[in-house]
Amino acid sequence: MLHDIPTYLPVYRRANVTMVRGEGAYLFDDCGNRYLDCASGIAVNALGHGHPHVVAALKAQADLLWHCSNNYLNDQLVRFADRLVGESVLDSVFFCSTGTEAVEAGIKFMRRFHTMNGQPQRQRIVTFEGGFHGRSITCISAGGNEVARKGYAPLLEGFDRVAFNDLAAVKAAISDETAGVLIEPVQGEGGVHIADRSYLQQLAALCRESGILLMLDEVQCGYGRCGSLFTYDVYDVRPDVVACAKGIGNGFPLGACLVSAAVANTLEPGCHGSTYGSNPLAMAVGNAVLDVMQSHGFFTHIHEVSAQLMRGLQQLMAQYPDQIEAVRGLGLLIGVKIRGNARALADQLRVKGLLVAPAYGDVLRFVPPLIIASAQVEEALSITEQTLKG
Ligand code: PMP
Repeated sequence: MLHDIPTYLPVYRRANVTMVRGEGAYLFDDCGNRYLDCASGIAVNALGHGHPHVVAALKAQADLLWHCSNNYLNDQLVRFADRLVGESVLDSVFFCSTGTEAVEAGIKFMRRFHTMNGQPQRQRIVTFEGGFHGRSITCISAGGNEVARKGYAPLLEGFDRVAFNDLAAVKAAISDETAGVLIEPVQGEGGVHIADRSYLQQLAALCRESGILLMLDEVQCGYGRCGSLFTYDVYDVRPDVVACAKGIGNGFPLGACLVSAAVANTLEPGCHGSTYGSNPLAMAVGNAVLDVMQSHGFFTHIHEVSAQLMRGLQQLMAQYPDQIEAVRGLGLLIGVKIRGNARALADQLRVKGLLVAPAYGDVLRFVPPLIIASAQVEEALSITEQTLKG
């Protein structure tokens, strides 16, 4: 061996902490230390750790059926698809295991829609600076993250990347070869940049007028994270394609690509697939997560704790303007732009018992479980204040 590398490939900047257990909004390491988890496995554990209803559903399904392939139906699939589509403005759903696959499916479906409708030249997709859509060659080609792209050439042709929140830039990029626009309503990895409400509404109108499709990547900002099951509802726009993952499975690998009837009508057996897509275990977890999110007051709680956390972080910015440059967010996807090294601050917070998720541009994401209690928000703010105080 040339270098002293760990057996697990060092593609992550891992802290030297071994997590062994989770309970609600807390994680515990192998030394018995407790951490308030405002990272949620990068905006994944929407219901926190070990949610009893979700654990019970997974255990019950494990006793019945794990996998049977997509050559057959399974009852959890039919139930979850009906319920998810019923909650949405879309008409059909493809299930997969990750956010990357959900985005990749949507990109394929947008191109195929035009090909099957007699416009095969419409293959290009407009995407955005600062966007992140996953790690496959397609998704790094679509995304705006230079670090993710480095060393992987040749990348895929067919993406026209423009500035975020700039309608004129999108207008200029649309041509008779454009299939659609792929956008995160709130850019997560890019540093928590929020699309303006009027911008996204005008973008949706522009897509309609231009005969192209609007695809939202709600993998990080959706599924309750921004205060509504689907973030297009927060913006009051109607997309043609929506990619979901992360919170939808609360940590069980599950992704979904929802499409309109017009798009669904251009798809047929054999045109797409995934061995693990619609897996009964994943579908059972999806159903259980949705049960909880459909329960009374779930989204009201998110609005309340979001307002509390935003207010507290803004107060800290006012107190420590030499350390915090900006606080921005929607729902429980909140970014704190740090003056200086955000990763170093994240390390200090962790040592004091608070986990946050660094993002591009020296931003710390506060993305707690959506079920975080008001007292736990106070705890997060108090640890942050002690740390900033130094
Ligand atoms: N889209 C967005 C907006 C994301 O934030 C991510 C993951 N951070 C992905 C896609 C890719 O998801 P996954 O890692 O599950 O493939």
